[in-house]
Amino acid sequence: MGRRKNLMESKGQEVLIRALKANGTDQRVLNAMKKVPRHLFLPEDMQSFAYADTPLPIGYDQTISAPHMVAIMCDLLKITEGMTILEIGSGSGYNAAVMAELAGENGKVYTVERIPELVDLARNNLERAGYSNVTVVHDDGSCGLPEHAPYDRIAVTSVAPEVPPPLREQLSKNGIMVIPVGTQYQTLVVVKKDSKGNITHKAMGEVIFVPLIGKYGF
Ligand code: SAH
Repeated sequence: MGRRKNLMESKGQEVLIRALKANGTDQRVLNAMKKVPRHLFLPEDMQSFAYADTPLPIGYDQTISAPHMVAIMCDLLKITEGMTILEIGSGSGYNAAVMAELAGENGKVYTVERIPELVDLARNNLERAGYSNVTVVHDDGSCGLPEHAPYDRIAVTSVAPEVPPPLREQLSKNGIMVIPVGTQYQTLVVVKKDSKGNITHKAMGEVIFVPLIGKYGF
């Protein structure tokens, strides 16, 4: 385990959680975010900003999403205990950790990352923070991760030109996927598959993410 939060960080997290609560974040998501030490997922020179509501650089031109964006995505996903979850874009591993908290001991998170150094970073961070129910896979996540499909929930943390067909296929019946989509403007889209396999899309609003690079990406 890494070092515990110092007093400043504890205070900062308290303020952050209060702000997310005021935004209407679900209590289960707040509890999960309270448990995950975001500073352990950041480079040392960024740790003092860990509980500010802002995206931060994690190297290789990539960013850890702002806490409110993690909260919004997790709210929309409605993750419950025991679910199998796929994330595309591990980055620091932070979002995967929050989802792992929500899925609980019997849940499982697979997270796919294309940059090898970030695969190592996410693995180390998750291990340091004590998450053993998350598996980090090095691959092009725009093709999903067919070997463990179907997934109850899919979270894509980079923007795609359109919803990659393999992700749609790998979503289970009654499943939910959250994915930023767009070229000039980016919209957060909730994709739902009903019990018969029919798909619906709902646009939730404008967002800013780094691009999904790969076969079904940019
Ligand atoms: N969820 C991360 C933030 C992700 S930033 C966190 O909590 O820190 C987006 C990530 O998506 C970057 O690390 C980027 O390298 C990755 N990415 C982009 N295209 C990808 C692809 N096709 N497959 C897997 N990862 C991809």
